[in-house]
Amino acid sequence: MKKNFTNMTLKDLEIFFENIGEKKFRAKQVFKWIHTGVRSFEEMTDISKELREKLEEVAEVGCLKMSIIQTSEIDHTKKFLFELADGNSIETVFMKYKYGNSICVSSQAGCRMGCAFCASGTGGLKRNLTGGEMLDQILLVEKNVEEKISNVVVMGTGEPFDNYHNLSQFIELINSKDGLNIGMRNITVSTCGIVPMIGQFGRDFPQVNLAISLHAPNDEIRKKIMPINSSYPMDILLNACKIHVEKTGRRITFEYALIKGINDSLSNADMLSDRLRGTLCHVNLITLNKVNESGFTGSDRESAERFKKQLEKRGIPTTIRRELGTEISAACGQLRLL
Ligand code: SAH
Repeated sequence: MKKNFTNMTLKDLEIFFENIGEKKFRAKQVFKWIHTGVRSFEEMTDISKELREKLEEVAEVGCLKMSIIQTSEIDHTKKFLFELADGNSIETVFMKYKYGNSICVSSQAGCRMGCAFCASGTGGLKRNLTGGEMLDQILLVEKNVEEKISNVVVMGTGEPFDNYHNLSQFIELINSKDGLNIGMRNITVSTCGIVPMIGQFGRDFPQVNLAISLHAPNDEIRKKIMPINSSYPMDILLNACKIHVEKTGRRITFEYALIKGINDSLSNADMLSDRLRGTLCHVNLITLNKVNESGFTGSDRESAERFKKQLEKRGIPTTIRRELGTEISAACGQLRLL
């Protein structure tokens, strides 16, 4: 089987080249080509023809095939459907903001966390994505939009902390000076709350932003909508968050999707602010996006504003997230296995 170079760090490639009797610096040349989006050895023009032919026989570049692109007429958000080599497919979203271009990357094909309001988990987990499959989402999107991406959020399909090893490799790959060179502070990883990995993540990547999908002010509500809460209840989760903030000095984001009649009352806001007070954090509210099979309805804009005001009154910095790509089902919780 051919080696897939997109999955390899510069170090891996150096070892590979040394093993086939080539100079180590060739690895850096090839690594740079791959990370500028070149997908065939033929195009790597600073490498001898002989070596290119040799590489062609034993290795390949690129993991994904682009299959469908949808563009929002309203906000120009683009949703990409990519095919994996084994026939599974994943989705990736490209968004333009005032401060730069942002991409929402999937970390798994499917998801096994089973949150009641999210489309990504409806077909269960197919498999973990490799670091290269995560990287290739960025390389192919940059090529398609012909623009550089400055911010990466791991908030597509999948639970990144359920695929920690490959997530780490992905972060290392995109942070590489010889590759995309995306700063640690421009990367955000979101988790539904797999507590043991929060500590590990803080030690490995203290500068990467951490977002927690909280969505409830207490265990009673949270366990009804997020099965992970049975393994890691809120006290344990919030304590891990507190320690994370103390260790890294970085503000944590709590995501909170407002669901009509479930978690959006003013007393819910009071309860939430009591739990979060004292932790350097900020709450990102969104009104739940429509997922047909869930049976839940998003709160309206006025309730969201009221909830925000209540949190702020009680000292919790809060924003309401601008929703992009809803009409092409590219918004939070709408990505799925197709
Ligand atoms: N598994 C990780 C990464 C996914 S991020 C996590 O749970 O954090 C996707 C975000 O969208 C999560 O905060 C998720 O809870 C949220 N989400 C899921 N379904 C949603 C919906 N229908 N409307 C709004 N947000 C939703």
